[in-house]
Amino acid sequence: MSEKSVYLFREGNAQMRDLLGGKGANLSEMTNIGLPVPPGFTVTTEVCIQYLELNALPEGAWDEILAALADMEQSLGKKLGDSDNPLLLSVRSGARISMPGMMDTILNLGLNADTLQAVIRQTDNERFAYDSYRRFIMMFSDVVMADGREALYKQAYEEVFDGLKEERGAKNDLDVDADGMHELCDRFLAHFKEQYGADFPTDPREQLRLAIAAVFRSWNNDRAAAYRDAEGIPHDFGTGVNVQSMVFGNQGDDCGTGVAFTRNPANGENVVYGEYLMNAQGEDVVAGVRTPLPIAELEQQNPQIYQQFEGFCRTLEQHYREMQDIEFTIEHGRLFILQCRSGKRTGAAAVKIAVDMAKENLITKQEALLRVTADQLDQCLHPQIDPAAEIDQIAEGLPASPGAASGIAVFSAEVATRRGKNGDGEDVILVRPETNPDDLRGMLASNGILTERGGMTSHAALVARGFGLPAVVGAEMIAVDTRERCFRVDEQIIREGDQITIDGTTGRVIKGRVDVVPPSMAGEFGELLEWADEFRRLGIRTNADTPEDTDLAVRFGAEGIGLCRTEHMFFAEERRPIVQEMILAAPPTKDELRTVNRLETELERASDVHRPEIQSELDRARARHQEYHARYQGALDKLLPFQKEDFVGIFEALEGRPCTIRLIDPPLHEFLPSLEELLVEVAQLRIQQPDSAELGEREVLLHAVEQLHEQNPMLGLRGCRLSILFPEIVEMQARAIAEAAVAVKQAGDDVHPEVMIPLVGHVNELRHVRSLLESVVREITEQAGVDIPWLFGTMIEVPRAALTADEIAPHAQFFSFGTNDLTQMTFGYSRDDAEGKFLATYLENGILPSNPFESLDINGVGRLMRICVDQAREVNPGIKLGICGEHGGDPDSIKLCHELGLDYVSCSPYRVPVARLAAAHAALLEQAPSPKT
Ligand code: PEP
Ligand code: MG
Repeated sequence: MSEKSVYLFREGNAQMRDLLGGKGANLSEMTNIGLPVPPGFTVTTEVCIQYLELNALPEGAWDEILAALADMEQSLGKKLGDSDNPLLLSVRSGARISMPGMMDTILNLGLNADTLQAVIRQTDNERFAYDSYRRFIMMFSDVVMADGREALYKQAYEEVFDGLKEERGAKNDLDVDADGMHELCDRFLAHFKEQYGADFPTDPREQLRLAIAAVFRSWNNDRAAAYRDAEGIPHDFGTGVNVQSMVFGNQGDDCGTGVAFTRNPANGENVVYGEYLMNAQGEDVVAGVRTPLPIAELEQQNPQIYQQFEGFCRTLEQHYREMQDIEFTIEHGRLFILQCRSGKRTGAAAVKIAVDMAKENLITKQEALLRVTADQLDQCLHPQIDPAAEIDQIAEGLPASPGAASGIAVFSAEVATRRGKNGDGEDVILVRPETNPDDLRGMLASNGILTERGGMTSHAALVARGFGLPAVVGAEMIAVDTRERCFRVDEQIIREGDQITIDGTTGRVIKGRVDVVPPSMAGEFGELLEWADEFRRLGIRTNADTPEDTDLAVRFGAEGIGLCRTEHMFFAEERRPIVQEMILAAPPTKDELRTVNRLETELERASDVHRPEIQSELDRARARHQEYHARYQGALDKLLPFQKEDFVGIFEALEGRPCTIRLIDPPLHEFLPSLEELLVEVAQLRIQQPDSAELGEREVLLHAVEQLHEQNPMLGLRGCRLSILFPEIVEMQARAIAEAAVAVKQAGDDVHPEVMIPLVGHVNELRHVRSLLESVVREITEQAGVDIPWLFGTMIEVPRAALTADEIAPHAQFFSFGTNDLTQMTFGYSRDDAEGKFLATYLENGILPSNPFESLDINGVGRLMRICVDQAREVNPGIKLGICGEHGGDPDSIKLCHELGLDYVSCSPYRVPVARLAAAHAALLEQAPSPKT
């Protein structure tokens, strides 16, 4: 606990962000490095936490606030509430992690009838004074009185204002003259009294006390809580409150206000990037009410101020060694900096800024890597609109957040929440005139955002960039009608439910859905990943089972295949009937063989009398067996060239990189129609077409499906169990792999096949299947006279395999953790059902900290992995260890794999770049336990 509740700006520094919040700490830092910051003080986050517990300021805090205020008053020569020279204040929130727009702000605090007159006298600007007053009344009501239901109250005030504008024929706020503003203040004060049954508070100190308390309470408003949930920010951090002397951007045409980034937050380009409005107050820029001017125009309009501002930008960037987001105000030609923080940016900008800064020697390569999060990198992997696609572009706006998104147009946050992600699951594009913080939930449920108004720093743009949602803002040619739920552009009308596409990379708005293509690896993106490769210790492989996916993954930097699921090759349209034929023939082949064996024995023992009868039965059984066997073998023979062709394609795409091929794994019924469907179908056919050949065929299929039916198929006949019962299938697979390897090798390319046996729980399963496979590949390679460096290994998916790794490892050259099954079997949760049935409730209630199928469960599954790794290495030090469950692409799980000392992780092609970065993070964080990210 800090001894003090309040810190003057000159008493704090940037390191104190936990106590002062980010804004407070930075205001202090900027004050101390000599930037023009209006004086002020910060009430600490600890006071906030205490306030929220006590519902009152803790003892002594108010006295400290008054003392800090007195200090300010003295340095400025103004006094709060003074009727000659009044001090006006801004009261703003600021948590330790920036939560833009989520909590509350009050400007122009200190105004009342007396001080208002003083401001009029001092500024000789009646309109300005009343404009400031009406803003104060409105914000104060919003924040202090409405307590989390702002939107309602704001709207009521806006309706009063709209009414007045209509009466006076004013189009926008600036058309309302001094007299109008005066009238508006009177109406606002009356509205206040009507709403709350009390006069608007006139004592400035009382205003301050109420305002500070309300900003503390705003920590717990709905949108702030939702934002923290979405961003994973703890709910017990609390916010600081910054009380600062007002400077005015709305005192005339030599005044203005703006927001700028030291580099472009959308694409990372190293130019000051931002927007400003002359004769306006800060909220006008962010709220998107008037579309502001690009900062480049300030250079034309006022080169001196612009140069000074650019200089401050450079100072701040050098000082913080990070891209800054800066709020500034110009008051009668004097520039003030009101806030700086590290700027939110798109994934693409994060990558470019980090790489550029490292090249400028502002930061190290290691820091550059740690500056880019896995999520930001993932954003760069957003698909882009296919340049060859035919598109019907209907409008254009600002490219506020990159990536392309298609979906149905919806016109309210509420509909977006209902129909979008976590609702009905439709792809939706939220279309609004502009957005405000109350739209947050709806925005997060959408695939993209389109607004009619607002600039690159509007709320919509900031939020979209922060969450990696594609967004086009300020598309002024569209006219959004939220009541009619449509937008018009020229003669066209797009209604709720119509498909549209937005391209946040270029700003295009397109009618209909459009094809997208994968992103490119060129430029800073590729460069950053090459740096990641310099630092990471884990290898990165991919889960791929087609040459196309392999190709893509290799372009993304995969160093091999960690999991090629061979059964996926069986699902192709033209192969399915052959696979079904194989499955229909396989069990009866075995059954008939057993019958033959039995009858042969019987025949040997039979008396002469019974012999002929048994013999003829045996002949029939042999014939049946031969018939089934011929069908079974025939189907396998047909599948062989397909599989071989697949492997040739994959080996070629890998260009000599290793390839872990997992033999057939799922229960056979997965290749057949479902039992329920077939029962219905057969019942219908029996009524409608009782004599048809189709009925006969379906009945045979139904019989086979019934035979294969299992109560718990995930614990049943699958994995290596299948290979032991039906060795012909894996023999065919081994033959296909070996023949493909020989063909590719003979064509001059290298191959490194690693044959992986799934679902082993007992060492004998592995020994049995491995010896079978080895004899097949040996025969083929020896015959061809080609030397191929085979590896044979197993997946670790069954807890028993992990626990008996010391028995299994001597018989395996590699292990790959199949953590999908390992998680399923360790928790005893069905991976297919848990999510829909109970996991969501578990997560909501905090029974589980995270979804164990997404992020490895460190204490359970992780512990099993550790036991397995230790035992395996002890008996087989050279054993290669990897992971190929879905966790291989999850940054937290990758960190665990790094700590366990695995050799590689394997993930889907699109996660490969993320895995490269996450693996570098794991290595760098190990070296530097508390890095600055
Ligand atoms: C696993 O179980 O983690 C795995 C990769 O195999 P599959 O998901 O195909 O069962
Ligand atoms: Mg598995």
